[in-house]
Amino acid sequence: MSLISPWRAAFPGILALEAEGQTYLDSAATAQKPQAVLDSLLGYLASGAANVHRAQHLPGERATRAFEGTRDKAAAWLNAASRDEIVFTRGSTEALNLLAYGLEHLLQPGDELVVSALEHHANLLPWQQLALRRGLKLVVLPLDVTGSIDQARSAELIGPRTRLLAVAQLSNVLGRWQPLRELLALARSLGALSVVDGAQGAVHGRHDMQALGCDFYVCSAHKLYGPDGVGLLYGRGEALAQLRHWQFGGEMVLDADYQDARFRPAPLGFEAGTPPVSGVIALGAALDWLAGLDQAAVAGHEAALHAKLLAGLGLRDGVRLLGAPQLALASFCVDGVHNADLAHLLTEQGIAVRAGHHCAMPLMKGLGLSGAIRVSLGLYNDGADLDRFFDALDQALELLR
Ligand code: PMP
Repeated sequence: MSLISPWRAAFPGILALEAEGQTYLDSAATAQKPQAVLDSLLGYLASGAANVHRAQHLPGERATRAFEGTRDKAAAWLNAASRDEIVFTRGSTEALNLLAYGLEHLLQPGDELVVSALEHHANLLPWQQLALRRGLKLVVLPLDVTGSIDQARSAELIGPRTRLLAVAQLSNVLGRWQPLRELLALARSLGALSVVDGAQGAVHGRHDMQALGCDFYVCSAHKLYGPDGVGLLYGRGEALAQLRHWQFGGEMVLDADYQDARFRPAPLGFEAGTPPVSGVIALGAALDWLAGLDQAAVAGHEAALHAKLLAGLGLRDGVRLLGAPQLALASFCVDGVHNADLAHLLTEQGIAVRAGHHCAMPLMKGLGLSGAIRVSLGLYNDGADLDRFFDALDQALELLR
């Protein structure tokens, strides 16, 4: 099968890299951007930048309208119950840190926070540090051999002391959808708050927040074919209302004196300082662009590419997959070969894949690995990208073994 992406030509970055001899297979780290996003960024900057929410003049009013337009689009994209449930952040990491500070006052020493063994550092370290600050217990849900959170063990570990559950939707290392429905139902039945790290999951399909039933969900625009420096925090209305303010300054204030101040509720109360205006506007363009695609065609193309990736890796002696990835990516190591050596030889051949611990050091240590190679796919990748990867892999392994 030729596996040609009908969307490739819309991505100047992919075409530029190809012209330079680079095969980009690192979209789980960051995705290339469609022309519509570049046009939006340049359009805003070239037609007169202005700050949002604070200027009464025409450029300020225009920027605010476009900025707030993205809030409507994001609310529709995630099927939030209200546009006020969408807070703009600078990325998933910032959104998770916001939550770890904003929820701190609800937790008492001895309370339990639950994460899983596969979390990205962004969804581990803020909770770990909160636990250390506050004398909480951090409980880690184990995985099964496929790389899914073990549901039976989770049912034993999530209990009456659990105050918060924070888990990834789709692992950036293992490429598996996690059993969110069951885990979130369990957390809800115990009255615990829930946080879903959607940094990877948001990129594949549209997720309905009201159906998912979490309290908070975070994702990053740069992985979603949008600009960097922008993230989304979705919070269910009542859950958002429990958050304490965490960053101070700018328009997040309602009223200020020298000795005291009162703050706005979400979303503006959690958007201190000048936000990434051009980025938020361009995220709106990315969501428009994505909404215009045939979702079934995208899913079909991604599934066919992923099947080709797994089949090719399966054909090579000594290649060991981490878990049983379902989509988007595959991480692997090769018996007797150091991942850094392999990564070096792939890089020399123009293959842009990721090597190392993938910001999930405890997971790697648990697997007994110092690192792994990760190949990750975007909707612009063609089968030919994978052919080039496999040729380079074979060359590298011939040298290394
Ligand atoms: N969680 C997961 C699962 C991720 O893959 C990433 C990005 N590597 C993050 C969180 C952090 O996202 P960002 O760097 O955009 O804040």
